[in-house]
Amino acid sequence: MARKVAIYTRISRDDEGDGLGVARQRQDCERLADLRGLSVAKIYEDNDVSAYKRNVLRPEFELMLSDLTAGLIDGVVSYDLDRLARQPKDLERLIEVFETRKRLTFVTVTNDIDLSSADGRTMARVMVAFANKSSHDAARRIKRKHLELAMKGKSSGGPSPYGWQKNDPNKVDPEAARHIRDAQREILAGVRIGTIRTRWQAEGIGRPREGTKRVSHNHVELMVTSPRLCGYRIYHGEILLSDDGEPVIGEWETINTIEEWEAVCAAVAERKQANPNVGRPVARKYLLSGIARCGLCHTKIRGQNNRLWKPGSKASKYSYQCSVVNGGCGKVGRVGEPVEDLIIDLVLEEQRQRAAEDSSPTTVEWPQEAELKAVSDDIKALTSAANNREITMSSLLQLLPDLERRRDELKLERARFHRKAKRAESVSDGVKSRQQLRDLPIERQQEILLHSLSAVVIHPAGRGKRVFNPDLIEPIWRE
Ligand SMILES: [Zn+2]
Repeated sequence: MARKVAIYTRISRDDEGDGLGVARQRQDCERLADLRGLSVAKIYEDNDVSAYKRNVLRPEFELMLSDLTAGLIDGVVSYDLDRLARQPKDLERLIEVFETRKRLTFVTVTNDIDLSSADGRTMARVMVAFANKSSHDAARRIKRKHLELAMKGKSSGGPSPYGWQKNDPNKVDPEAARHIRDAQREILAGVRIGTIRTRWQAEGIGRPREGTKRVSHNHVELMVTSPRLCGYRIYHGEILLSDDGEPVIGEWETINTIEEWEAVCAAVAERKQANPNVGRPVARKYLLSGIARCGLCHTKIRGQNNRLWKPGSKASKYSYQCSVVNGGCGKVGRVGEPVEDLIIDLVLEEQRQRAAEDSSPTTVEWPQEAELKAVSDDIKALTSAANNREITMSSLLQLLPDLERRRDELKLERARFHRKAKRAESVSDGVKSRQQLRDLPIERQQEILLHSLSAVVIHPAGRGKRVFNPDLIEPIWRE
């Protein structure tokens, strides 16, 4: 009977560019197992690409060790020793298993060691110790230096990110910061990133890469959601965590508070979930499309171009028309501009009145802040207990996932809460006149209307009536 072995693969940062991804490691291991007549019972796969996880143990490696000890598998196939045991203490734990279960199989694709013989084990120890010592290697030293600086919250080298001064990545560039905050306010109010991208490109905002004038969708998204905005240090594309699991805070001036930044990230993520085709332009040209409803059949009414319109003609350029194509009765329609002007004026007046009545301070506190703190403290206490060997790693690993899940849930709720608050407070600030509103992106205009009303009912005008009658336009106000 073929021996049941496991394949162990691991990607590490050093694999970038070597093409030694998990898929290739696994293929090579499978081929080798085949060649030796071994049957692969299980595949363990760890990913420690993220530098900040370097102190964290490898959950699949742990699982593999316990499966080996329990006799569920009879050996391991791995690409090379480096995949399996980088630290002497990992190697010693592995060797311990091999010494207690004498007949275990161990092979590597590069054929570098044989843990089942005493000589092989000695060789392995030398190799791991040597690999550990290879810090004289220049590249590794530079990487380490970068990480060291990052852990201290220093800015990385290279050009300053947008939002900070070109010659000093620690000092905010006030104008760029204002552009970022404006864009974030728009996103919280429901404006699409694509709309912001278009504006940034037209106005030359966002410091596009040298040699190109194009501002990409991704670029804008990164600009408004970068963790750096609230002071979080990024390292290899991820938020860098200190040894106690808290984000490392940079020493530069921030553009957002953590709450603001979380709110924007939540808004962007929600929109992506709701609309996976984000970035693709959506035809939403008319202010009351989807807001207006037919007074007869109550179907949603959309705006449409008037095909008879020509420059200089007296006919309206567009109208709102109940359409049979969209499942409506097709009997109600109205010219576009007067309906919109009327609704904008009514809404601005309503919001003015409401603002006058409601001048209470709007500082709101998230009611679950204490719970989040308690959960985070628990995580910290457990982690440090494990680091001080007051509890075992396996108890830590049993307790941690639930706590982490709860913490992440709470953080998400907090982001949603702040997002809602920000949205309410930012909805119409600064917009005083019809023209100011008209100058905003269309989604922003709609957002402002929808803050006050839920629909606009257009009642039939009757035959032959050519004069616009505002009484037949009925705004449905929100409670
Ligand atoms: Zn209708």
